[in-house]
Amino acid sequence: MALHRDEIVQLPRNILPHTVKPRSNLHAQNTSLRQKLDQFMSEARRNERKLRRFERLELQLIGLNSLFDLGKTLLYPEKNDFQWDSVSLVLIDPEHELRRMLEDEGARLDEHPSLIFVSSLGQLDSSYPHSFFPSVGRYRPARHKSLFPQSRPRSVTLLPLVRYGKLIGSLNIGSLDGERYADGSRTDFFEHLAAIVAICIENAANVQRLRRQGLTDTLTAINNRRFFDQRLHEEIEIAQRSNTPLSCMLLDVDFFKKVNDSYGHQVGDQVLREVAALVRAQLRGSDVLSRYGGEEFAALLSNTPVETAEEVAERVRRGIEENVFHLPDGESFTVTISIGVATYTPADKIGATSSAGEFLVGQADRCMYQAKAAGRNAVVSGGSPGSHRC
Ligand code: GH3
Ligand code: MG
Ligand code: MG
Repeated sequence: MALHRDEIVQLPRNILPHTVKPRSNLHAQNTSLRQKLDQFMSEARRNERKLRRFERLELQLIGLNSLFDLGKTLLYPEKNDFQWDSVSLVLIDPEHELRRMLEDEGARLDEHPSLIFVSSLGQLDSSYPHSFFPSVGRYRPARHKSLFPQSRPRSVTLLPLVRYGKLIGSLNIGSLDGERYADGSRTDFFEHLAAIVAICIENAANVQRLRRQGLTDTLTAINNRRFFDQRLHEEIEIAQRSNTPLSCMLLDVDFFKKVNDSYGHQVGDQVLREVAALVRAQLRGSDVLSRYGGEEFAALLSNTPVETAEEVAERVRRGIEENVFHLPDGESFTVTISIGVATYTPADKIGATSSAGEFLVGQADRCMYQAKAAGRNAVVSGGSPGSHRC
């Protein structure tokens, strides 16, 4: 049925449904929507890949309990995974504790200039002036030069490492692309990484502290006999590998019982602390010193021939003899020490590592008892195993 002209309702133009738009306009809109969707999809895929990369790094970090391994993993990331042009790690280390731990693990700190230590929080204040949030943006020499000692990036991301509300350090990432880390850009992956890094650093330090406690004498703060026994084998192996002499000193305080009897146990304890410190002061940092028993100490001097070890022992003996111990009431006294010295030379071929170590300590012990028998306050050396001077 045909409609009468008057029956056709004229709709105003502005309420025409969208679908009535011209065909070419629809096509453009469709293309634009598709492009946007493609962009979202590729952004989502990029983020997914980024997430996986960060997850892999975080899992790797969680699996480490050595500070040095953590540092190396962060400072030298896989180039294929992270195109970070420069990375540095700043740690707050007022007591030099972390540095000692790293050195104990064999780290040569001068070989890793991007591992930076500061004594106080203040030195990181300018990086995080307002809060412990990542600081992202252009590289500014005045602020960032000390954080990137080896390079000059154009944009940076500084990640605060925070534990229990306290800043413990900063992980700093730089790019040669000035736009890569732009102010206001997304930082959630980095924030997660920083949280993991802070936990891992604290955990690794705690593992080392525990290990140290088990190997440290609580009275004198030097190493204990367990540590000495472990190191003895390692040092013998090093001596064999490098064909260098290893010397051992056993030291025993003379008539120590009298010190306790005359001045009391607490003064005796203080004397042991001071004796340990006096002996330590005469040794190289790399020498091993431990409390071997009550008032006995043992030292291992790597790469040290017998003549040098005898000189060191004589210096230690004199240092103790000349030291005056003061009591709070003004009284003072001195003590002496007897020292046995022995040297292991790999060419002497004593046999297995364990028997070489036992032989070395046994000989130093016999020499120490000879020093006692000879009147105390003396050094007696066994020379090399061939010479049998004691
Ligand atoms: P010698 O010259 O023959 O070595 O005589 P000495 O008196 O030093 O040796 P002795 O073995 O007779 O006595 C050692 C004393 O060291 C006995 C012990 O009570 C004391 N001693 C061991 N450990 C400690 C300690 O941790 N603190 C204190 N104050 N005394 C200790
Ligand atoms: Mg003794
Ligand atoms: Mg004694």
